This record gives sequence, structure tokens and C-alpha cells, in this order.
Amino acid sequence: MAEPRLLMPQLYDGGSPPALQGGVCDCGHVFFPLQAYGCERCGGHGTRLRPKRLAARGRLVASAVVHLHAGERPAPFVVGAIALDDGPVVRTLLTGTDVSLPPGCRMVGTLVPVTPAQDGTPRVDFRFAPAMGSDLS
Ligand SMILES: [Zn+2]
Repeated sequence: MAEPRLLMPQLYDGGSPPALQGGVCDCGHVFFPLQAYGCERCGGHGTRLRPKRLAARGRLVASAVVHLHAGERPAPFVVGAIALDDGPVVRTLLTGTDVSLPPGCRMVGTLVPVTPAQDGTPRVDFRFAPAMGSDLS
């Protein structure tokens, strides 16, 4: 069986544990996604901006269920804002459809199977899920 292909590898690192492809400026500002337009804090660009692997760990800021979606994603699904331990706040899909997660809840990144590619290649996508066990700290 073929190895699952990660959707949007420009945004996510499918390693173990999975991570986000962010960046850091020489001024110390950390951001997601990686981009070359310039630093939001100091305006630095070019070689001042470097890739940085961001740990997929953080705290839930807010979440909401999407019941109706004009795109191809089947509803319902849950979107959340996660304040990463590494700094940036990211908007992301959450696993499941549970909206009772309290703000401040510890969250971790995970890869979930999604619809295979047209050629049958299995695919995985990045989501955040409530942390369990040792991930809680
Ligand atoms: Zn900067």
C-alpha cells in the first residue's frame, strides 16, 4: 500500500510528532505560515526571515462549528484558533465535531486520513485534537 501523502506539505511537516512550517525573523518574531513578504513586527525581509519548525502544541483560544459550507468539505466540522506554545495563533480544523471544548484546553497536532487522491493514493491532513496524557503539560 502506498505511503499516505500529506495535504499542504508547504504548511505542515508530517514527521513524528507532526509540526507546522513557520518562520522566525532576526528580531525574534515567530510567524505562521512561512512567508517572504516581510516581518510583521520589524519589516525585515530576505535573509532576515528563516524557516522554523513550530511544535504543534498549544491552547485553544476559541472554536466554532461550521454547519453549512459552500466548498467541497462536508459539514459539520469544527474550526479553532490555537495559541501555539511557540507564539503564533493559528486558525485550523479540529478533529471531531465536539464544540464543548473549553478555551484554554491543551491541544496537539495530529494527522488524520482524508479522502484518497483520484489515483487512489491515501492522503492525510493536519488537524488539532484535545491533548491526552503526557501531552497535557
Ligand atoms: Zn522582525
